[in-house]
Amino acid sequence: MTESLLQVSGLSKFFGEVPVLDRIDLSVQPGEIVMIVGPSGAGKSTLLRCINRIEHPSEGTVLIENVNMAGEMRNGKLVPDSSVTTARKRRRVGMVFQRFNLFGHLSAVDNVAIGLKRVLGVKSAEAKARADKELARVRMSPHAAKRPSQLSGGQQQRVAIARAMAMQPTLMLFDEPTSALDPELVGEVLEVIRSLAQDGMTMLVVTHEMQFARDVGTRILFMDAGRIVEDTSPETFFTNPSHSRAREFLQRSL
Ligand code: ADP
Ligand code: MG
Repeated sequence: MTESLLQVSGLSKFFGEVPVLDRIDLSVQPGEIVMIVGPSGAGKSTLLRCINRIEHPSEGTVLIENVNMAGEMRNGKLVPDSSVTTARKRRRVGMVFQRFNLFGHLSAVDNVAIGLKRVLGVKSAEAKARADKELARVRMSPHAAKRPSQLSGGQQQRVAIARAMAMQPTLMLFDEPTSALDPELVGEVLEVIRSLAQDGMTMLVVTHEMQFARDVGTRILFMDAGRIVEDTSPETFFTNPSHSRAREFLQRSL
């Protein structure tokens, strides 16, 4: 039996009385390309944020490589775990957001290198070398010295992907990585994500790009009202979804 890379069990998240995530169970094996689709407000971003521990789950657990990301249950209360092991495993989850959040005063290469230096304590020369390698992978080498303001949105997002990849994550999370882009810039970012997928990177991608989800995904999750209502192959999801909400969603999206 393969050990799951990601194991989410009974994950709920409440904002006040309202459950935004309602007892989510999800297990992801190495190499899976999981596309998460569903209407706005379904809880897709909150799920990724709980997996990455930007958000604390109200209930349930998130295990990454068998380490509990959410903390430990003690006397029925969730106590955040800040142990070194957890911190290390947490770094192994990379996240790319809709907005690129690059440092405006730093060049592309420095944006990629800074996390290596500050968080991992990698020496400057080695950090720079690794940053150059990651920029090459997203085909941004010619723009390494430019600042974000000199780059298009698509180029900035490719730098953000390089920055996340530089930390050598075992799992990458993408939250609508092309939603903030002008239509003509969407393709180049999707191409980069596709190439990471082909290289075997395990990933969860929240997206509204249905053709991309179908082509690149190995698995589709359809979320609605805080639950995963469909968890199936792209083939089945796009040709014969079992839930009416998924069918309605597809009719509106395609
Ligand atoms: P999606 O990404 O699928 O659009 P989200 O995870 O962003 O959905 O949000 C799910 C629901 O949770 C929405 O109704 C949203 O308004 C609510 N929500 C998200 N974050 C917060 C927060 N920090 N405080 C209160 N409500 C929130
Ligand atoms: Mg969202």
